[in-house]
Amino acid sequence: MQLQFFNIINDEERGSEETHAVTDPRTEEDLWPCPVATEADFEDAVAAAQKAFPAWSKTTVPERQAALVKLAAILEEHLEELTDILSKESGKSKLMASFDIKGSVAQCHYYSTLGLTDELQYEDEHTRVVATHVPLGTVGAICPWNFPLILSNIKVVSSLVTGNCIIVKPSPFTPYAVMRWIALSRGVLPPGVLQVLNGGADLGARMTLHPGIAKISFTGTIATGKRVMAACATTLKKVTLELAGNDACIVLPDADLAKTVPSVAAGGFFNAGQVCVASKRIYVHESVFDEFLERLVEEVERVYGMQEDAGVPSLFGPVSNRMQYEVVRGIIEDCKRKGYEIKTGGKTEGVVGKGFWLPATIVSKPAEDSWLVREEQFGPVLPILSWSDEDDVIKRANLANAGLGASVYSRDLAKAERIARRLETGGVWINQFERPNMGAFFSGHKDSGFGGEMGKQGLLSYSYTQCLHFGKDFDKS
Ligand code: NAD
Repeated sequence: MQLQFFNIINDEERGSEETHAVTDPRTEEDLWPCPVATEADFEDAVAAAQKAFPAWSKTTVPERQAALVKLAAILEEHLEELTDILSKESGKSKLMASFDIKGSVAQCHYYSTLGLTDELQYEDEHTRVVATHVPLGTVGAICPWNFPLILSNIKVVSSLVTGNCIIVKPSPFTPYAVMRWIALSRGVLPPGVLQVLNGGADLGARMTLHPGIAKISFTGTIATGKRVMAACATTLKKVTLELAGNDACIVLPDADLAKTVPSVAAGGFFNAGQVCVASKRIYVHESVFDEFLERLVEEVERVYGMQEDAGVPSLFGPVSNRMQYEVVRGIIEDCKRKGYEIKTGGKTEGVVGKGFWLPATIVSKPAEDSWLVREEQFGPVLPILSWSDEDDVIKRANLANAGLGASVYSRDLAKAERIARRLETGGVWINQFERPNMGAFFSGHKDSGFGGEMGKQGLLSYSYTQCLHFGKDFDKS
């Protein structure tokens, strides 16, 4: 597959003297050359967005929504091509890669029916106050590598439906599918409304500092998020930070294990654990701990093996890049050094001939202050811990870096809800593993984020709210 990739500036393809190539996570070979945007490219993109904004911001919501339907059609038409590209750059199976594209199609359709409308905020005999939602200007989207398309696309649909222009910067680990998709979408929107630039931390940092960018929507690690927020303060940009999680999953003594175990396994190992809201620490009541663990190991060995050679479409895959592979290897090695019991997996050398493969690994009862428990692993290694006291498990669950999601499993919904309401997270899933819903506000509490995206509340963060105060007293004489 020989493909060409371009930065898209003012609806035109632009190459660059400097290129970089992503390492294929399955073969460790270089993929295609990808143009790295220069400072001049970035300035041109900002200028094009600023030129496009006055007319685009005045379009109606239905006009913008019609554009989203066209973007969805392009994604659908090129599903196979984009699936192939995304699978190569991320290491995901074709099945997993196709979820990223189909999910983006669904987002386009959903936001083609959801938009912000004026709202009456207050009324009495003297005054009537109507809130209207005004676009911000140009949004800079700084994106991660774990779901390259869907996590860029949510920023694109949110920006467009609210009347903003957007410049997307995909992760340098996974630039190709996003760049190809935006290239394929040329002609749908006025030049300058939707643009893409390939680059790394330096381009991201430039975006956070540029006065021509009104808002940064960032998804990534907590450490980078802090840098982004500090840089955005210099020009008082609006900022949304979607950051890491360290989700606790709490299994109660009465949980239906036949259903809970497969759900927890999916929560931990879907996409090889590279999910921001993956279940990352499993707390199982001591009365069912042994049975749960035995069943979980069986389930994980059966479903999350490296089965693709047998032609079985897999929900599992290699770690997506060397950087993360080394982090996860380090965590598994640390567990071994400390003598924690590894119930399955654990191999870190020569797992498969080539590529960043690590087996699904389950560690029984590592220390609460171990690297695996305290930090986000973002890969296929899962600690299983036991609990006996409700207050204690809630306290252990509520780490500062665990503000994104959590899950609770029990047959007693009232009890599960009572626990859920005490968890300090943006979302809690009861009797299901953590999975974002495109209509539901998705946000991280505490260190896991600042603001959030999705649903109507998400769209509000892409707008200024302007209140129109209509005096009524003049009408009265
Ligand atoms: P990262 O922070 O390393 O990089 C994210 C993006 O920021 C990349 O595009 C990178 O080039 C850019 N960047 C790096 N330094 C920058 C700087 N100084 N200024 C501006 N931009 C800069 O994160 P990652 O490794 O790509 O993503 C994985 C992380 O993202 C995990 O922690 C995961 O939990 C988190 N994540 C969160 C969500 C969510 O919705 N909360 C979703 C997916 C992933």
